[in-house]
Amino acid sequence: MLDIQAEINQQERALKKALSTAQTEDALEKVRINYLGRNGHIANLMKSLKNLSVDQKREFGPKLNAFKQAAEQSLAEKKHGIFKSQLRAQHEENRNFDVTAYEPNQKFGSLHIYTHIIEQLSNIFMSMGYDIVDGPELETDYYNFEALNIPADHPARDHHDTFWVSDNLLLRTHTSPVQIRSIENSDLPIAVFAPGRVYRNEALDASHEFNFMQGECLYIDKKISLSNLLATAQAFLQAFFGKDDLKIRVRPGFFPFVEPGLEIDASCPFCSNGCSTCKKTGWIELLGAGLVHPNVLKCSGIDPEIYSGFAFGFGIERLAMIKYGIDDIRLFHSSKIEFLDQF
Ligand SMILES: [Zn+2]
Repeated sequence: MLDIQAEINQQERALKKALSTAQTEDALEKVRINYLGRNGHIANLMKSLKNLSVDQKREFGPKLNAFKQAAEQSLAEKKHGIFKSQLRAQHEENRNFDVTAYEPNQKFGSLHIYTHIIEQLSNIFMSMGYDIVDGPELETDYYNFEALNIPADHPARDHHDTFWVSDNLLLRTHTSPVQIRSIENSDLPIAVFAPGRVYRNEALDASHEFNFMQGECLYIDKKISLSNLLATAQAFLQAFFGKDDLKIRVRPGFFPFVEPGLEIDASCPFCSNGCSTCKKTGWIELLGAGLVHPNVLKCSGIDPEIYSGFAFGFGIERLAMIKYGIDDIRLFHSSKIEFLDQF
């Protein structure tokens, strides 16, 4: 009788010691098997009950059951403790994660081609004393057409492939509305460069996007003539392509908001006698230009007898494609890292 009690006491002490030294789930599982397993210490004590008298069974049966329950509870608590300390260790490890640690395969970001090219263009115009301005991409019929000498029945409207939002609202088809807004909002003389997004309902291919960018330069002052336009256009193109000897030539062109209208070509920056960029001609079409139409000046309240001005515009992607040898305009809106990485 005393032997059983002594055995229970001894096993309780041993279990306590075993639990205090077990620090992992594996070690804890070994303790569980030793005490609560089919052939564990508690099961063996249970088996020994059958050799005892009925009175002894009544006394030690409940004691062994209580020991078993206490053992199960201690094991469960210890298991929870081990789980919590593992979590703490993980948290500590995460907290000490060094975000500045050197990782040999990391990639660094670069400026997007749009950001890069607009910075270049803006810097050139700012160095010539121009302000950089922008206007809304959602425009009214008035700013996009009417004020630019393109009334409702004008055939030029057909070439604009306009995305209409309502009878009066549209996604601007060119940056020229910014000319009108600048005239309205500024004192004379006016010298502005307006880069921005424009929209045309066109099918996509390597040289057409429905959403692309234009840049527009406007200068209005007294006694502005074609000479000012040509000198400015040439200085701009020389700076953009980094070629001091770049020449320009002029052909007649038609844009309703200028008179006369011109197309300005630049001598090919890459060759002296013909290459694939200039299609073997030595010249590249780059700018639409002209002197601001008197109707546009009058519409904005400027007296064309006193003031005159010039404007020229261009496709920003086209300039970038020529400068960097990009053969597909769709790449500008792609997320291709190998393309974007180059700039
Ligand atoms: Zn060439």
